[in-house]
Amino acid sequence: MNIFNADLHIHSPHSIAVSKTLNLDTMLETCKKKGLNILGTGDVLQPDWLKYLENKLEKDKDGAYCYKDIYFILQTEIEDQESVHEVVFFEDFDMVKNIQKKLVPYSTNILGEWGGRPRVNLSPPELVDIISDEGAIIGPAHAFTPFKAIFRQNKFKTLKDCYQDATKNIFFIELGLSANTHLADRLKCLKDVTFLSNSDAHSQNPRSLGREFNRFDIDNPSFEEILLALKRKDGRKISLNVGLHPKLGKYYKMFCNKCRRRIIFKKAKKTIQNVFNQYSITENFIAIFSSNPQTAKNQYIKQVADNKIVCPACKEEFGKNFKVKLGVSERIDVISTSENPIHPDHRPNYINAVPLIDIIRSIKNIKSSTSKTVLNEYNKIISELGPEFEILINLPISKIEKFDPTIASVIRAFRNNEIEYTPGGGGTYGQINLKI
Ligand SMILES: [Zn+2]
Ligand SMILES: [Zn+2]
Repeated sequence: MNIFNADLHIHSPHSIAVSKTLNLDTMLETCKKKGLNILGTGDVLQPDWLKYLENKLEKDKDGAYCYKDIYFILQTEIEDQESVHEVVFFEDFDMVKNIQKKLVPYSTNILGEWGGRPRVNLSPPELVDIISDEGAIIGPAHAFTPFKAIFRQNKFKTLKDCYQDATKNIFFIELGLSANTHLADRLKCLKDVTFLSNSDAHSQNPRSLGREFNRFDIDNPSFEEILLALKRKDGRKISLNVGLHPKLGKYYKMFCNKCRRRIIFKKAKKTIQNVFNQYSITENFIAIFSSNPQTAKNQYIKQVADNKIVCPACKEEFGKNFKVKLGVSERIDVISTSENPIHPDHRPNYINAVPLIDIIRSIKNIKSSTSKTVLNEYNKIISELGPEFEILINLPISKIEKFDPTIASVIRAFRNNEIEYTPGGGGTYGQINLKI
């Protein structure tokens, strides 16, 4: 068996808000820096991208698609009529075209320039049936995010609720940036499915592409082997998930759907009777004070889940009522079947990672992850010590110290689980807080 690091959910310039410079060559460059071997192609049902991929990708002796020395799995994301996003993997271009033909009657944008992530007028089980009948494989994307996801607020609570009899053909879910195995294994309905940790990258920036990936134990990087691993058959499996620390994701915390402030709970100095009435508003947060923040938070979550809480900041600012929405962590609190995770025996380890770009940004106190200063520093450390994942996880701290003692001290803190996080939410990524 061989080991391959794979990030299996990417987009193309034919999806909205994707970098125009994203292509196979720029993807390849980032793969080298990150230590990735297999990528999803993204958007393979979109006609221009499909043509581009057909021209560029070659098949190797095992039937795996490759471009230079990086392997590719034909992949797309689809939105069904319940506005649930699903990731799909295909064996070959014939299969892509057959499925495209079957979906065309149900979609107005699948053949369009912006059809990278097509919307189809099919219910989730209908879509799963079409995909699996052709031999491709499908599962929910970023399963817990507050938008366009199977487990979002007021939507489904189990796989069966969504896919009904077609649940038997769901072999994986994608966790999404704000969730990890620890959170997802609080749902009993997920005990038999494989977890994927993918980046959903909209750019080749190393902060985006490969920020999450899966380590596959397979014979070769073909679709056939990936399929066996997702089904955990013949000894094929995912042996490690690596993803952002959930608090670094964009949707970890509750937020106001209008002003996008995150809601947090703080300990009040004196006893407060009337819960939720004492709060403070800052640019990004609404802090609610309580003598018992945990109890207050639990009560609050229940009311947010019932759409009963309006944003106090928007009320003050515009005199209007805008609803507070659950983040990934609170939604899992609401639909979970156990207080703590119950990991099935097959579940691999999950590493909560902090991207090296974030570490450099925090040290230099720079907000943008595309800043030249940050990227230069990133490229320098990668060329001397890389790839990134090796630096973060395996490389002896003494070696990193020789390059840069401050970066070394942050990586040591990360490895020892001593980093403090400001949780993300409402579309804003979380942050690491350094004490240096
Ligand atoms: Zn999506
Ligand atoms: Zn608001």
